[in-house]
Amino acid sequence: MTSSSTLHGYPRQGPDRQLKKAIEAYWAGRVDADALLGAARELRLNNLAELRAAGIDEIPSNYFSLYDHVLDTAWLLGAIPRRHIDAVPDVSTEKGRLDRYFAMARGTADAPPLEMTKWFDTNYHYLVPELGPDTTFSLDASKPLEEFTEALEQGVVTRPVLVGPVTFLLLAKNLDGDFPPLDLLDKIVPLYVDLLRQLREAGADWVQLDEPALVADQPSDVLDKVAETYETLAAATNRPKILVASYFDGLGDALPVLARTPVEGLAMDFTAGDNLKGLAAIGGIQDKRLVAGVVNGRNIWAANLSEALGVLGTLLGLAASVDVAASSSLLHVPYDVTLETDLDPEIAGWLSFARQKVQEIVTLRRGLTEGRAAIGTVLHVNETRLASRASSPIVKVPAVRERVIPDVRRSAYDQRAKAQREQLTLPQLPTTTIGSFPQTAELRKARAALRNGQLDQDAYRAAMRAEIRAVIAEQERIGLDVLVHGEPERNDMVQYFGEQLAGFLATQQGWVQSYGTRYVRPPIIVGDVFRPAPMTVEWATYAQSLTDKPVKGMLTGPVTMLAWSFVRDDQPAGDTARQVALALRDEVVDLESAGVKVIQVDEPALRETLPLRAADRAAYLEWAVTAFRLATSGVRDETQIHTHMCYAEFGDVLEAIIDMDADVISLEAARSNMAIVADLAAAGYPNEAGPGVWDIHSPRVPSVEEIAGHLVKAMAAFPAERLWVNPDCGLKTRGYPEVKATLENLVEATGQLRA
Ligand code: GLN
Ligand code: ZN
Repeated sequence: MTSSSTLHGYPRQGPDRQLKKAIEAYWAGRVDADALLGAARELRLNNLAELRAAGIDEIPSNYFSLYDHVLDTAWLLGAIPRRHIDAVPDVSTEKGRLDRYFAMARGTADAPPLEMTKWFDTNYHYLVPELGPDTTFSLDASKPLEEFTEALEQGVVTRPVLVGPVTFLLLAKNLDGDFPPLDLLDKIVPLYVDLLRQLREAGADWVQLDEPALVADQPSDVLDKVAETYETLAAATNRPKILVASYFDGLGDALPVLARTPVEGLAMDFTAGDNLKGLAAIGGIQDKRLVAGVVNGRNIWAANLSEALGVLGTLLGLAASVDVAASSSLLHVPYDVTLETDLDPEIAGWLSFARQKVQEIVTLRRGLTEGRAAIGTVLHVNETRLASRASSPIVKVPAVRERVIPDVRRSAYDQRAKAQREQLTLPQLPTTTIGSFPQTAELRKARAALRNGQLDQDAYRAAMRAEIRAVIAEQERIGLDVLVHGEPERNDMVQYFGEQLAGFLATQQGWVQSYGTRYVRPPIIVGDVFRPAPMTVEWATYAQSLTDKPVKGMLTGPVTMLAWSFVRDDQPAGDTARQVALALRDEVVDLESAGVKVIQVDEPALRETLPLRAADRAAYLEWAVTAFRLATSGVRDETQIHTHMCYAEFGDVLEAIIDMDADVISLEAARSNMAIVADLAAAGYPNEAGPGVWDIHSPRVPSVEEIAGHLVKAMAAFPAERLWVNPDCGLKTRGYPEVKATLENLVEATGQLRA
């Protein structure tokens, strides 16, 4: 049997983040449209040459994007909001087209951008198309056609990759609440038919339609629409063969539905979910090509090649042909491990970024077609590296594994609340903030100077202390009740702790796209996690020494630490969370001993990490809640534990929030007009809550009346004795003028309601 190696997509930015630089130069007016488009083309051609030289048999095209592939799909289908057309009416030039496209992505002075949200359970964010019953569509196939043709000119017949029609509609925002988005299939499927024809005429043999929405639970009427859609697309004459791709989990009930359609191929993820079982259960897809995602496309670990070959061998009996691929686009991993020059070579051998994953795919394809012996040397090296990882003393630390700690507070909430009232003597409706104060240019400059040696540790510390003094003085002036030190010393809420915890590894060049031109370098959890030394105690106690009011200690919770890192694949995530929790517990207890009376453990990622499939959620919430409780239950009754959540609606995790048993939770609430307060009350949430009264996403200063209005609403739904007053989230992205003005209004509004 023949088999080929292929990919769903490759990092877009270039090894040196050239794309980011080119786009930002265009935005700043330093280069023109031609220069930007030329730079983009060069990056695509470099990728093409690289993948070809590496031996990838079937190379994708149209995975590239100047901002986001969902935005590209909206553009492809002409789903462009009126306000962005008005903002940039003339698209007769390349510059006009780019400017309208970027207007959708970033907004203009009077046209807000499309909303942004997480791409399934990854840390990539896409732009949410806006659709309604009156949306009109029209095809602009220029991008996929040009990217196909430019590769063809190099002699490569690529497989264009597109977001499929069902996923596109399911990801969109419905402008008219009652309108079922899939009703628009009738309008967009004909455009896909036309697009397929144009791609075929340009020379495409295969096209890939991505339908990752099918790995989440979908009701049967959605699955009926899937069947109908792919019947229609397959019935089109003059088209390339169709590969329907899914990733991040198993296809579940969607598998038999897709298998019955006449599309020629399915791409499936064999690194997550139950696809192997699902395929076996339906007797395979004997009339179709299977693109088998056996190399994990979103983690950074070297694959177990022998195991992957075993899976591929099993799959051979279950499809007409089996091709080797990564489970998803390699967009989610950094470029190249060999760029990490500071890395211990032994550890580097455990890791695999995009370039290394391409090698793994090519090797596996060879092993599949020529037999294990043909790749014997590589298999041997792989085995040695896996063995070195499995036996490494940093990966398994017995002292960490042996710790057994109870995960309940000493007393129930009522008793704790009483002890806390006595110790803290707070007024009704206590006011506080979420932790960070504005990260000013001076702070960033000081951190950069520390990094490049212009500032020594002592001078840096002095600068941070000065900032803490200013932040404390400001909060006292404003009259807040529970103060914070402002987090000036933190670059990022995960990175800061990752740098101090054993078991975490930082990269130099491990950039991955978060959205648009924003790239992040998630830390890698390589081994057992523990805390070699206190991390925040010095800052917190310094801040507390400056005031008689309580200062909140501030930590990032275990779930969020995992969510924004690359997590190890050799043990359940819950085990890793437990280790992080125990390390944090040590910090919590040390903070308490140092005289910190209020400690906040942030879990903004708790909701966003919820698994795609409902059946997996209870198990996740169980370890997530346990980890939080482990981290926070080491303190005395009178020490008050806070948590904070944002970036989501919390309707489906209210039970978990109750089980976390924090004394106080602050939640994002202003944008949804305090709806969460009634939800908390209805769920019987028994502890204290601070629904955010200031949407910190914009510099707008809410008036005293507006804040008081929010509070009145909250007090109508929830007992005032258990309410706190605070903003929606941290203030690090805000400026001092609006922070001062708003916090003054917040204190004033609270005073009015107390009276
Ligand atoms: N304590 C953090 C801050 O204030 C919380 C950030 C977050 O919730 N994303 O910045
Ligand atoms: Zn927040």
